[in-house]
Amino acid sequence: MAKEMMDLKKFKSILFEERKRLEEKEHRIDRRNSSASESGELGDLSDYDNHPADAATETENRTKDLAFDENINEMIGQIDEALRKIEDGTYGMCDRCGGQINPARLDAIPYATLCIDCQDIVEELG
Ligand SMILES: [Zn+2]
Repeated sequence: MAKEMMDLKKFKSILFEERKRLEEKEHRIDRRNSSASESGELGDLSDYDNHPADAATETENRTKDLAFDENINEMIGQIDEALRKIEDGTYGMCDRCGGQINPARLDAIPYATLCIDCQDIVEELG
């Protein structure tokens, strides 16, 4: 085993925590969206307690939530992928070039599946 050992257990628990957090967030948004469309109420979300909603603000918030919701789904997908890679023993390897992802990058973004170079390339290609 010449390869440097990574603290997979640590990353795994970080990923699980993050996933849980995102799922809770997603459920809150879902609940608010459905209760808002059914009864016109915003639900019990304390974030919005200080913002009595006029119609425009409410629409705006809901639009933001939808975008945010998609983002959450995407992130959960990335986290699942990272967890799968931990099981596979390929965690920390770049999906694109197969190189090792910088551990500092993984500390910042535990669900990163690309090294910083490939991430740049992919983003440039759009
Ligand atoms: Zn790469």
